[in-house]
Amino acid sequence: MAKIVVPMGAPGAGKGTQARLLQERLGLPQISTGDMFRALKDAQTPLAEEVRAIMQAGKLVPDDLTARIVEERTTRPDCRGGYVLDGFPRTTAQAETLEELAARQGHEIVAVLVDVPHDTLEKRMTGRRSCPVCGEIYNVHFRPPKTEGRCDLHPEARLVHRSDDNPETIGKRLDEYDAKTRPLVAYYESSGRLRRVDGTRDPEAIYADIEKVVSSES
Ligand code: AMP
Repeated sequence: MAKIVVPMGAPGAGKGTQARLLQERLGLPQISTGDMFRALKDAQTPLAEEVRAIMQAGKLVPDDLTARIVEERTTRPDCRGGYVLDGFPRTTAQAETLEELAARQGHEIVAVLVDVPHDTLEKRMTGRRSCPVCGEIYNVHFRPPKTEGRCDLHPEARLVHRSDDNPETIGKRLDEYDAKTRPLVAYYESSGRLRRVDGTRDPEAIYADIEKVVSSES
């Protein structure tokens, strides 16, 4: 059975980095709701304006809109062999939507908790920078690029700092995670679908553990 891999963990735990590695190395499409909303919010429409305000406040986009974009994206042909969901589900209602989608698509869900203590998360988020061309993720504290502010692979591109990675919004995003998303860890654990990996190590060590989970036969 093909797998829907759900990296879980607080904002800044490294879910996006791991989802990118799974895409590069196993060819599993990385479906990032955060990236999809970031692309959407730059349009000049009332919906975009609404999404922009929600994201800047560190809140979650409503479940019905989120479910629609995930369903639309994951029913494309490249997802038939499984996919990685980066940043979804984040609420109980979204977890229910995913159960229905998985059943319809004939996929099984595997959740992987990338476990990182709260105090490390804030530093990771304030230091995070990414390349606007290839999406590579750097960190000024932990993984600086070779030349300050420039992507190693695309030196013509200035690295960008997400506008919601500021201390105030980060605090709100961590609160949203604790209130709405953390309960999903217990949800997947109680149904025997949760694996835990120690997210304080370097990305390659974390990836090795995740790849084992993803490649194992169930
Ligand atoms: P991320 O890049 O995953 O940290 O997401 C950035 C922002 O996009 C979040 O703070 C939310 O405002 C919004 N977002 C991303 N994924 C979801 C989701 N599954 N449900 C609701 N809002 C989301």
